[in-house]
Amino acid sequence: MTQSEQLFQKAKNFIPGGVNSPVRAFRAVGGNPIFIKSAKGAYLHDEDGNSYIELINSWGPMILGHAHELVEKAVADAIQSGFSFGAPTRREVEMAELICSMVPSVEKVRMVNSGTEATMSAVRVARGYTGRDKIIKFEGNYHGHGDSFLIAAGSGVMTFGSPDSPGVTKGVANDTLTAPYNDLAAVQTLVDANKGNIACIILEPVVGNMGLVKPAEGFLEGLRSICDKEGIILIFDEVMTGFRLSKGGFQERCGVTPDMTTMGKIIGGGMPVGAYGGKKEIMDCVSPAGPVYQAGTLSGNPIAMAAGLAMLNHLNETPSVYTRLEEVGTRLTDGMKANMAKLGLNYTLNHVGSMFTLFFTDKPVNNFEDAKTSDTVAFGKYFQAMLKRGIYLAPSQYEAMFLSTALTDEHIATILQANYESLQEIQ
Ligand code: PLP
Repeated sequence: MTQSEQLFQKAKNFIPGGVNSPVRAFRAVGGNPIFIKSAKGAYLHDEDGNSYIELINSWGPMILGHAHELVEKAVADAIQSGFSFGAPTRREVEMAELICSMVPSVEKVRMVNSGTEATMSAVRVARGYTGRDKIIKFEGNYHGHGDSFLIAAGSGVMTFGSPDSPGVTKGVANDTLTAPYNDLAAVQTLVDANKGNIACIILEPVVGNMGLVKPAEGFLEGLRSICDKEGIILIFDEVMTGFRLSKGGFQERCGVTPDMTTMGKIIGGGMPVGAYGGKKEIMDCVSPAGPVYQAGTLSGNPIAMAAGLAMLNHLNETPSVYTRLEEVGTRLTDGMKANMAKLGLNYTLNHVGSMFTLFFTDKPVNNFEDAKTSDTVAFGKYFQAMLKRGIYLAPSQYEAMFLSTALTDEHIATILQANYESLQEIQ
């Protein structure tokens, strides 16, 4: 038995399913999860001495590759001064000012400890601000594991949500309405049927959580205009896309400014950090400035802020990061398309900047129903074939890959060769 196999067997005795977040268990692709010992630059190193070129990067945060020296140094310096004070610090002020300067919609921001906390809190603020209860989310969009977001996708446009997980009450589910992504007419129908009751519309402006799906032409603009007309708060969940698709997130790239934004992943440089922010008048509802309660013992943690500040300052001051990420994304996806053409395959490849997904379907993928036409068994085989060749992909068809600046041209060539061989092998 390998070290990873032994560790997984043992883990299952003490941790539900052997992992601390479900997708890590490799259920969607079969086989045993790989236990990681260390990571540096473009590589993950496992407990058995194998190394892999990384295309997940901790599900997004490691945009500069693993253990980047800037972040490492910031953390090493910060721990000299203590780990947590539960009192305000200079770094939190610097962090807030920096985020407000980088993200177009953010005039004030509150730090939390995860993306889930950010989205849960943002929705509470939207409800507190508007005095309305219902929210609209989109099928196939993931906003963390807060009760309001765990609502079954695929329900009819006019149907109230039903819980996707035991433990979510019907009452909570009733306040979450769902629409298909990229379907403005469905949103308008929901809004008309619930006049004056919708607090917010929350969405991933580019979706990473059903695989990569782009907003259709005019979709984000259309949502902006519905929200303006109806006094609904528009929330962009940029936990994945923030500081990745440009330094100001996808909102900077597409020119549509939401009322509130949720952030996570890159913002902590690999430490557990999230944030939510938006217009001053909305954020001033948050306690102690206003009546909407939200708090955290470790929020704004000094070590996490040091890591995040080092990361964001670098991204803010180094436009070449984004030029390089665009280049790597384009080279890799163009190469994969060329491989498929050579092999006579016609799978759908969705791509924006440094995020992409290869869907094992020949149908265009613009929403969750389209994504579900993918052959997940073929994906599982492809995943294992790539892993065997030393390339570590997200272990599910319904995920995006995240690139980092640590990928060199040689890495790209290696990945493309593995992609060609793996696609050929699984036919
Ligand atoms: N929102 C989006 C768009 C996400 O992709 C995720 C996690 O992947 C979350 C929220 C939840 O973030 P976290 O896992 O840090 O709680």
